[in-house]
Amino acid sequence: MKEFDIAYKGLAEGLHRFEWTLDDRFFAAFEGTEIHGGKVNVVLEMEKSAAGLMLDFTIKGRVRVECDRCAEECEVPVEWEGGFRVRFGDEKADFDGDLMWLGRGEGEFNVAQYIYESVLLALPLKKTHADCAPAGVKFISEEEFERAERGSEMQKMADNPEWQKLKELKDKL
Ligand SMILES: [Zn+2]
Repeated sequence: MKEFDIAYKGLAEGLHRFEWTLDDRFFAAFEGTEIHGGKVNVVLEMEKSAAGLMLDFTIKGRVRVECDRCAEECEVPVEWEGGFRVRFGDEKADFDGDLMWLGRGEGEFNVAQYIYESVLLALPLKKTHADCAPAGVKFISEEEFERAERGSEMQKMADNPEWQKLKELKDKL
């Protein structure tokens, strides 16, 4: 995802602002993700100094996930703030989520994975519809419901003795 590349080399020292809107396409790029899609606004405020970079992300939006209760898709809010530091040098330490080392020869790095993982961290503990059926109850469509109701109405009529009498009368005519 090239649009999440931060080409810091050409930037002047000082504050820089980046903004993205994550959509279904963004989440689909992460294989096996529990996030089906959504719309999430991401703002990055990045300060460049001689020492390195300071990144602050603000993430806010809504994503679609499987409901913990009924297993249908539901929409939940996500909101998160955080960031990390970048230092330049030939230190070979893995990124621990707080400090990233970039070699002198590198000119850019990509923040898509970091943003994605931050959205995962921002998922609420309870991922459910505000109002849905208790566990084990399968949702039926409006159409299925109407059909079932029509069926029981006809059954009720057939069971009604008045209806039976009418029917016998009609058969005799
Ligand atoms: Zn539900």
